[in-house]
Amino acid sequence: MGKQKILNAMQVDPWKITMLTDDIGIFTEKGGTIAFHCSKDGITVVDAQFPDTAPHLIAELKKRKDQPFRLLINTHHHGDHTSGNIAFKGLTDRVLAHENSLANQKRVAIANKNEDKQYYPNQIFGKEWHEDIGKEKVGLYYYGAAHTNGDAIIHFKHANIAHVGDLVFNRRHPFVDRSAGANMQSWINVLDAAMKNFDNKTIFICGHSGDKYEVKGSKEILLSFRQYLENVLKLVDNQINAGKSKEEILKSTEIPGSPEWKGDGIERPLTAAYEELTNA
Ligand SMILES: [Zn+2]
Ligand SMILES: [Zn+2]
Repeated sequence: MGKQKILNAMQVDPWKITMLTDDIGIFTEKGGTIAFHCSKDGITVVDAQFPDTAPHLIAELKKRKDQPFRLLINTHHHGDHTSGNIAFKGLTDRVLAHENSLANQKRVAIANKNEDKQYYPNQIFGKEWHEDIGKEKVGLYYYGAAHTNGDAIIHFKHANIAHVGDLVFNRRHPFVDRSAGANMQSWINVLDAAMKNFDNKTIFICGHSGDKYEVKGSKEILLSFRQYLENVLKLVDNQINAGKSKEEILKSTEIPGSPEWKGDGIERPLTAAYEELTNA
């Protein structure tokens, strides 16, 4: 009995699909959360995780729905959101992202000498993109520099569900990719603009969350992360003004006002805030 139980536990798939409506769901396994929308006009997928995890979603969608893949969208260029693009080659000939996301993906792939492993966006947008897919109206929005300089929000208007990619780390210390144009002060403005554009009924999906926290939620996850960013900047600014060195600032173990952000990685936003505030 005991042995069989262990065996069963080991056979459980490491990935998880959660349906938010009849047509829209999220897939989590490793890296950034994937969202998908099924319709008679084809399946739309937002983000692609990794080459070894994307096929799990593809196989499951083929099992559940006999629909072609219509469109793959990237929220931004990071490898935990785009390296799985390659799994969609041959399934959809359309990959869509913000223009800066494509430029970043190319730059990084050239530097890493792995361009042959990329499936680049072949459609790009600047400020907004709109497309009717089945009963859905899909809108892509860009509000400026934040986690990178190419973060898009993808809104399924009919269902009122928005994938904000890595614009929100729900109770987890974020990556701030200054090498790709990230800016924490602008990030706050981007979240303000997003909160204005969406409403209190919008369900938000985000790329990452802390232990025991969800990768989806109400406007609250945007508001509290916005507050977190402000608290990080305030903490670092106060310490700079008190004459503390970068090394001393990096010793902080908590962000005052945002105690729910725990776990590793606090040095990432502290470093970014320090560099941003000192123009390093
Ligand atoms: Zn990510
Ligand atoms: Zn990212």
